[in-house]
Amino acid sequence: MKDKLNRMLNKIEELLLIVEEMTDEKEEPSKPAKKKRGRPPKKTKQDSDFQVKQQQQSRTPVAGKNKFEDMLDLHVDRPEGYDKIDDNVKRTPRTRKGFETIDLFCISCNKTFPVNPIFKKDNYVCDRCVAKKFGV
Ligand SMILES: [Zn+2]
Repeated sequence: MKDKLNRMLNKIEELLLIVEEMTDEKEEPSKPAKKKRGRPPKKTKQDSDFQVKQQQQSRTPVAGKNKFEDMLDLHVDRPEGYDKIDDNVKRTPRTRKGFETIDLFCISCNKTFPVNPIFKKDNYVCDRCVAKKFGV
């Protein structure tokens, strides 16, 4: 009889331990939350452990030796009158304008598109129709 009681007590103790463990798990706050569908929420600065470290100063650049400076006295063949060339001339102003688009008629979808004139041709097919045809 006493033996039976002891066994029962042991079992009850085991059950209590299990119940304690279960209740402990429920109270744990670090349990991962249920996965939510859709796009995960954007991480704010606070809940991400990413830290911006202060940028270290880069290595100070050290000027290397310019080997071409040794070649200044090098005798090379110079065309006659090279020293008479005057480069100090006023530059010609740039006057070329940007291109103007032209309207081309797509033979496939019967719409008109403004296109760069270098693509002008008789049987024009627009980009959309070409992509539809070739699945680009
Ligand atoms: Zn088209």
